[in-house]
Amino acid sequence: MDGRTLASAVGPGDTVTVAGWVHEIRDLGGIAFVIIRDRSGKIQVKFEEDEMEADLVERGLGVTRESVVRVEGEAFEEPRAPTNVEIVPSELETVAPAEPELPLDPSGKVDAELPTRLDNRTLDLRKDEVHAVFQIRATILSSARAAFDDLGCTEINTPKIVATGTEGGTELFPITYFGEEAFMNQSPQLFKQLMVGSGLERVFEIGPIFRAEEHNTPRHLNEATSIDFESAFYDHTEAMDACEHVIKRAYAGVKESCHQELETLGLAEDFTVPTDEFPRITYQEAIERINATGELEAQLVWGDDLPTEGERALGSDVDSHYFITDWPSEIKPFYIKDHNDDSTLSTGFDMLHPRMELVSGGQREHRYEHLVAGFEAQGLNPDQFEYYTKMFKYGMPPHAGWAIGGERLLMTMLGLDNIREAVLFPRDRQRLSPWTHRNT
Ligand code: ATP
Ligand code: MG
Repeated sequence: MDGRTLASAVGPGDTVTVAGWVHEIRDLGGIAFVIIRDRSGKIQVKFEEDEMEADLVERGLGVTRESVVRVEGEAFEEPRAPTNVEIVPSELETVAPAEPELPLDPSGKVDAELPTRLDNRTLDLRKDEVHAVFQIRATILSSARAAFDDLGCTEINTPKIVATGTEGGTELFPITYFGEEAFMNQSPQLFKQLMVGSGLERVFEIGPIFRAEEHNTPRHLNEATSIDFESAFYDHTEAMDACEHVIKRAYAGVKESCHQELETLGLAEDFTVPTDEFPRITYQEAIERINATGELEAQLVWGDDLPTEGERALGSDVDSHYFITDWPSEIKPFYIKDHNDDSTLSTGFDMLHPRMELVSGGQREHRYEHLVAGFEAQGLNPDQFEYYTKMFKYGMPPHAGWAIGGERLLMTMLGLDNIREAVLFPRDRQRLSPWTHRNT
């Protein structure tokens, strides 16, 4: 559609060609309005029986909603039009017709259930609010990339077909790789660490992670987007600083570039960019504060993982993004380093939004003997990870890093109820469609 003008750029006095989808047709008898929608917004086109060729009016009124049309005409000021401008057409061409029966209503006037929406996601995305979510998602990712650039990182892409898991066996998706068992990667953890040792030193990756989550929850997907960071010569506190920078820059980017989208979602007024330092609370303090809320039936003790209700109780108590530091080593993965003077206390941390965990990170164990001993302590066979461990024998600097769940960042930023709203084509226990349905 070379030479077309975007709806938002049409000004009074312009002779224009616009192209987009038929959002709405309002026939008032003798006069009719066709609202055309493109990626920039909407523009009204006026058809008037007394002023135009009958054939043009007929074609204008004959289009079906959601057809793709191309309109040539002249633009005039019109205070009653949604954007104060309307086009009086000289030509209308249906570029791609839509069938009159739509599986869902992109104008949003008729609500559809989530499964219907996901089965017809392309049409669902034409809704202003859904469209806005994915524009904001793109801005979060570009802002994160800008933040990584501030930090002097190199972007990497690591394999998604792997021979071993990193985050626990039950969540692995096995695949067949030329007759041998392989898996979809759960995390780029080990690869990004190896890239620190490669001399790239400070790296990030934005890519998919695959986890066969046991339950359907509103905050778990089986394919999610991980925003990973890893840096040589960083300890866990410096990694937390970097994490805070990326999160704040993502919020700031959305505030700066997505005013229209925030408005569409009804969030423009209340959208605040976090500026204060995120509180850093130790795990010990976290369990004490959760216990003090009285929200849990049983009191938490050292070594317990934080249950969802506990996270939520603490979140409303803290009421901002915050870190939980100094976790018991036994509930953090093998690659996390312990505090030097205490083998039970890890440098692992989580960063949470009041609603849920967004990030896990920590300083990594970079000393070969300690790393191998850590594998054995967690019941893992270090031989299986030889491709990873052996590189720790040849000059691996101390390093630290983290992973942000991209969809959780988007979901908490926008207050979405369900993580499925934050991804184009969610994969959950029931859904592997589009494109193919599971036979269950
Ligand atoms: P949770 O305990 O909430 O299931 P986790 O601790 O297993 O998460 P990590 O291995 O720490 O997850 O992964 C780092 C981040 O990736 C998490 O903090 C989260 O934001 C995101 N993440 C992990 N698993 C999923 C998933 N199944 N769906 C969406 N995001 C996920
Ligand atoms: Mg975690």
